[in-house]
Amino acid sequence: MKERITVLGATGSIGCQTLEVLALHPERYEVVALTAGHRWRELAEQCLRWRPRYAALADEQATVELRNHLKAAGSDTEVLAGHQGVCAVAGLDEVDTVVAAIVGAAGVRPTLAAVGAGKKILLANKETLVVTGALFMDAVKRHGATLLPVDSEHNAIFQCLPRDGVDQGVRRVLLTASGGPFLGWSAEQLASVTPEQAVRHPNWDMGPKISVDSATLMNKGLEFIEACWLFDMPPERVDVVIHPQSVVHSMVEYLDGSVLAQMGTPDMRTPIACALAWPQRIASGAPSLDFATLAELRFLPPDEQAFPCLALARQAMQAGGAATAVLNAANEVAVAAFLDGGLGFQHIGSVVANTLDALPGGRCDDVDEVMDLDSRARDLARQQVQGLGR
Ligand code: NAD
Ligand code: MG
Repeated sequence: MKERITVLGATGSIGCQTLEVLALHPERYEVVALTAGHRWRELAEQCLRWRPRYAALADEQATVELRNHLKAAGSDTEVLAGHQGVCAVAGLDEVDTVVAAIVGAAGVRPTLAAVGAGKKILLANKETLVVTGALFMDAVKRHGATLLPVDSEHNAIFQCLPRDGVDQGVRRVLLTASGGPFLGWSAEQLASVTPEQAVRHPNWDMGPKISVDSATLMNKGLEFIEACWLFDMPPERVDVVIHPQSVVHSMVEYLDGSVLAQMGTPDMRTPIACALAWPQRIASGAPSLDFATLAELRFLPPDEQAFPCLALARQAMQAGGAATAVLNAANEVAVAAFLDGGLGFQHIGSVVANTLDALPGGRCDDVDEVMDLDSRARDLARQQVQGLGR
């Protein structure tokens, strides 16, 4: 029987690359449901190509457009409306595997719906783990869900860890970071960065939010938190090393000094295919790594003065509780304001730092409390954006 798949965030960078990998293996996988935020035309095209049983759009108005369009085209895909609809297709009985590729905290409830239904979850949506942390990992255990990391670094670590858990002599994990488009820039130079410059990543082609996060190093901060939760590692055993070529996707160091690295071309189809087929291996469409043309592999420490977001994320993780939810909410607000031209690049870190000072987080016992904290943090961050501006 084919493995039945829901792709949450199907129209995004990870969603589209997932569909590219699935297209290589029609005998193995069947797409049951596709979802998106509000871009109904792109989802309509995907529905006509993939003929899923269900589609869902978070935006209710766009849902009407999608429904009319598909009906006129003779499609028999059932269109579910709104955030509820997106959550519903994440937990369908007739689905085995859910690709969690929504961007930001908008992915929290749909991803948790998949966890609650005990699905195999391919996790790209790192913000969900940053926001809900222990609650998420507890729910995975409680509902017997299977969690497979798609984020390239975490997928690399997953491949380098022993199959039976991290207690087997692991000393630390090393997250590699490309350094983004502004590697080596001073704080003064960073002050004049434009959104166009920030979304142009040297090695990866990604959605706009994660591209800005890569440029500020907040992406590595979020990934640091993600690694602590996924691999049950204390913060002091997760290190970050800048590696501008993005060939070594991350590493695990063992007590005897051995360091295992996973390498490949910077192509998200590799970790997507790895997570889809694990523990088997399938073709991803990614090109082979050409060692003859690899001139060098460089490694250097991150510049935490010019790029304060990484240290902010580490501090939030060390503070514990829901501080990381506040960090994430403030960052989402700051990045959206930067992309809109309403906040200077160098102020993104200040918005996050000031919001964390004003609202330290504390303990949250359930997801409703976390989402309430998330919206309070967003209000505070918006005030910060107004004050700081460009
Ligand atoms: P993207 O912006 O390209 O796509 C985001 C998807 O989420 C789209 O399908 C969009 O329609 C959907 N969406 C947006 N808002 C929504 C909402 N409110 N409700 C429901 N759906 C909504 O983003 P991306 O680059 O594909 O990233 C997706 C996730 O994967 C992010 O968490 C990112 O950090 C992570 N990730 C991405 C990459 C990459 O190479 N792009 C690599 C590693 C991890
Ligand atoms: Mg990554």
